[in-house]
Amino acid sequence: MKVALVGAGLSGIKAASLLADLGHEVTIFEKSRGLGGRLANRREAWGELDIGAQYFTARDPGFQQQVKLWLKACAVKIWEFLPYRVEQGALIPSPDETVRYIGSPLMNQLVYCLVSNFAVNFQCKISKVAKSGDGWRLFSADGELFSGFDWLLVSSPAEQSRTLLDSCSDVMAPVPEVVHQPCWAVGLATRGKIPGDVQGIFGDETVRWASRLSSRPGFIKAPEVDDVWMLHFSPEWSEQQGKETTMDIGQAGLNWLQTLMAAKLEKSAEYQHYWRYANMKPLTFDKPYLVDEQQRLAVIGAWCAGGRVEGAWLSAQRCIQDLTD
Ligand SMILES: Cc1cc2nc3c(=O)[nH]c(=O)nc-3n(C[C@H](O)[C@H](O)[C@H](O)COP(=O)(O)OP(=O)(O)OC[C@H]3O[C@@H](n4cnc5c(N)ncnc54)[C@H](O)[C@@H]3O)c2cc1C
Repeated sequence: MKVALVGAGLSGIKAASLLADLGHEVTIFEKSRGLGGRLANRREAWGELDIGAQYFTARDPGFQQQVKLWLKACAVKIWEFLPYRVEQGALIPSPDETVRYIGSPLMNQLVYCLVSNFAVNFQCKISKVAKSGDGWRLFSADGELFSGFDWLLVSSPAEQSRTLLDSCSDVMAPVPEVVHQPCWAVGLATRGKIPGDVQGIFGDETVRWASRLSSRPGFIKAPEVDDVWMLHFSPEWSEQQGKETTMDIGQAGLNWLQTLMAAKLEKSAEYQHYWRYANMKPLTFDKPYLVDEQQRLAVIGAWCAGGRVEGAWLSAQRCIQDLTD
């Protein structure tokens, strides 16, 4: 069977690799330049930054098996640290039993591990899809046409899937218009002393989460900086600022960190990224994927299965398992 798949994040690549292993011919269309979607990273002279998901957890037994394989292949490491949380402006230790995993060397390694016998068209944004006599047709934003697919799988965030699919199927009808929330992500290279055991912070209404990336196993930072941080601003704060804000987001991040740590820090470099669709709202859906059997169309993605890294894997796994049974 010839399958067209939109999106090369974890859910898309997991689905593609399962289908390819079953002998199907899979062609992936990805608007960006690489694999991974929201497991994206940024290479800077002062360090390689995971700018999307910072770590992941594994609760489902099937996913735990997958994580075991990744650990064995050294594609994943355990990031062991004592989490802190912010309470009334103060930093409080917040121990828990959660096992946190990271991709090694970077989060997108999870996706690279799943690469199989499929083709990927990078920098190919699909702007329209249509069903015709010879199967699914996909039109790229650059005006290219790809045709002759028996099945179409779409793995983008819900809002983007709706834009693509509403003209040809009602498969997205049960899904609310807004599923995801935005996030300003700021990477900071800092100089200045901060206590060694502060590695991950559950923040407040301004910054939701802060990773001290330079404390993660295997992280290589430039010798002239003391620390590398990734701050994820809260959905509410990010929404309020918006993508086009004139606010100095890097400075806002540094100020937040300095106040919290009661330390004088110098910012030697920064990187900023605005995620329009970051984490999902607290929504649940009946099934971890959506399907329109008549049209031979399926919709997958982390958002169908609770969001997060585990949800992306589960959505793809369940969808392909059910459709190929
Ligand atoms: C800032 C941030 C922090 C996060 N923190 C965590 C965390 O700590 N732990 C955790 O478990 N999860 C976290 N997540 C969530 C996790 O990263 C995602 O749930 C998961 O990676 C989503 O995978 P996916 O395959 O469903 O979607 P995506 O990774 O979004 O993949 C979809 C792909 O589709 C492509 N695409 C979209 N539209 C088109 C189109 N029209 N044509 C072609 N390609 C298209 C996109 O470019 C993308 O590559 C975080 C996410 C963000 C953004």
